[in-house]
Amino acid sequence: MLPLTLHRLDLASDADPADCLTRVEPRHGLLTATDLSATRGDGIFETVVVVDGVPQALAAHLDRFERSAAMLDLPAPRRDLWLSAVAAAAEALHEHTRRGAVKFVMSRGDEAAGDAPTGWALGFAPDSRPASGAPELDVVLLDRGYRHDVAQTSPWLLQGAKTLSYAVNMAALREARRRGAQDVIFTSIDGFILEGPNATVIARIDGVYVTPPVELGLLPGTTQSDAFAALESWGDSVATRRIDVAELRRADAVWLCSSTRGVAPVRSLDGEPLTVDDRMSDRLNHALDARKA
Ligand code: PLP
Repeated sequence: MLPLTLHRLDLASDADPADCLTRVEPRHGLLTATDLSATRGDGIFETVVVVDGVPQALAAHLDRFERSAAMLDLPAPRRDLWLSAVAAAAEALHEHTRRGAVKFVMSRGDEAAGDAPTGWALGFAPDSRPASGAPELDVVLLDRGYRHDVAQTSPWLLQGAKTLSYAVNMAALREARRRGAQDVIFTSIDGFILEGPNATVIARIDGVYVTPPVELGLLPGTTQSDAFAALESWGDSVATRRIDVAELRRADAVWLCSSTRGVAPVRSLDGEPLTVDDRMSDRLNHALDARKA
């Protein structure tokens, strides 16, 4: 990732949003060494893709940001302020690139100061999508080690919140590389398909596009949601339901989707080839890029 723009948010103030935003050099220091984002990964974030200056699915990202804040007992984000921060970052980003992304972050704050949460919005150029076509992925299934009902039995594990603690997700991606793959689909200990370390799963099973339900402790995917809206508008059938491992292995096609990369087709699962539907991947990515909000 190439950092291009940075805005700091003053989360202690209740002034107009414009007066709570400061543009700073993207490479300059922003945090103290005692900020809880750095020392404990204690905070939340969102990454929204920006095409031609338009932050896509921003309302859904803000909804999810609010959901994560509630799950972590963080103060409810001021929607007008975060909206302005992303808009300012997107505008600044547009000077640098046609296709970029804004990562906006709220940390619990500085442990030593004990004051308000820390907030920032970073505009960057993602490196996860080639200029033409979607990358095809070799994927391995990895056991997440939780049952499918972990979100109900153990909400303190924060499954389904978008927290800053992504070390486990990064470790899973390293394990994929050790196994000769590029990505991961997590499974529950009792055999259900969950999500990728930074992506939602869509599988086409018997002609129906299926994604697992968020009740399994998953992040509600904004890209998956917009991909399903596009599929429905074309008359395709979609469903949100549990998928077991055997079903995924016999799927007609599988995709991993996320804001920065759109939909990426899976070409192999644990070394076994899967059918790739390039036409549908391109059609979906085209529809996602054409979003106006
Ligand atoms: N699931 C996880 C764990 C993620 O980290 C992400 C995005 O980074 C997604 C799913 C996909 O979400 P979205 O499509 O909103 O980017």
